[in-house]
Amino acid sequence: MIDLRSDTVTVPDQGMREAIASAPVGDDVYGDDPTANSLEERVAALFGKEAGLFAPTGSLANQLSIRSLVSPGEELLAETNSHIVRAELGAAAVFSGITTRTWPAHHGLLKASDALAIARPESGPYLVSTTAIAVENTHNFGGGTVQPLDQIQELHAGASTLGLHLHLDGARIWNAHVASGVSFTEYGKYFETISVCLSKGLGAPVGSIMLSTKERIAKSRVWRKRYGAGMRQIGILAAAGHYALDNNIERLSEDHRRAKKMALALAAIDSTLIDPTTVQTNIVGLDLAALPISAAELAARCKAKGLLISALGPKYARLVTHMNFDDAQCDEAIEILKIALVA
Ligand SMILES: *Cc1c(COP(=O)(O)O)cnc(C)c1O
Repeated sequence: MIDLRSDTVTVPDQGMREAIASAPVGDDVYGDDPTANSLEERVAALFGKEAGLFAPTGSLANQLSIRSLVSPGEELLAETNSHIVRAELGAAAVFSGITTRTWPAHHGLLKASDALAIARPESGPYLVSTTAIAVENTHNFGGGTVQPLDQIQELHAGASTLGLHLHLDGARIWNAHVASGVSFTEYGKYFETISVCLSKGLGAPVGSIMLSTKERIAKSRVWRKRYGAGMRQIGILAAAGHYALDNNIERLSEDHRRAKKMALALAAIDSTLIDPTTVQTNIVGLDLAALPISAAELAARCKAKGLLISALGPKYARLVTHMNFDDAQCDEAIEILKIALVA
């Protein structure tokens, strides 16, 4: 089976397994795990932040971040199809009493003025006050969209004027960096809190890191334990993270190249499926609106021929390239999709 459902389906290679096996470990609830500590410091330094906190999932890293920025009864603004709003099962409301309000963006592409236009800080006794804005880079459901640096800068300037915090959902910030050439410290400058995933394109089995100030991270460490995610010898997981940072960032360009190749081949079959110029990273979102086939039907036809893809909407299918998907499989996937689309 070729599996393009997500970049989370990768399995650790031999080198990563060896790094895991030989990691020095200790009890992280006591702060004694040297490998977790060094990973948190390393990722924080990479983004120019004071401190980091290992989390088992990106959802938790996002949730710890936004709860540190937004008080109960206040609101977080986010794009309509952002992961925080659509794919975290209402966690911001359930755990933190945070309400969200959204602005829509084509392909998830950030337009700072659209986000700022709905911000209502210090709304007084009748309306919900806005406290923070979240940006997703790259944008997952938008099709791996890289957020333009000038829009991030404009959002930052506007948010500062309004007294609002910014959070970066950087689950795939690695892909954004490789595609744009913008440094991690540059991205880091504009956000009070950041979450990054080690288990997406970087290929670690588990792990995300929350980044912020020492003070926010110290408080978030308490909340992580309160949520039941105080973990013990997590150096075995952090070692995979170190290995991923050492070996798997630059190679993301291969995933991007294969995604582009698939997009070009699919656009050649039917140009309404995808505009290849929108494929900047490792995600190919297929719009089936003009075709007499549902996303679920396309996924079923592909599966019968040995290719797994995601049906994320009635007429929206998603392919995600990753480190366990090579050039030969890319050609095979294109052939399977061609047959499935015209059948
Ligand atoms: C995957 C992902 C996350 C975190 O997901 P987990 O499954 O909780 O690790 C957060 N944001 C985005 C944009 C993602 O794609």
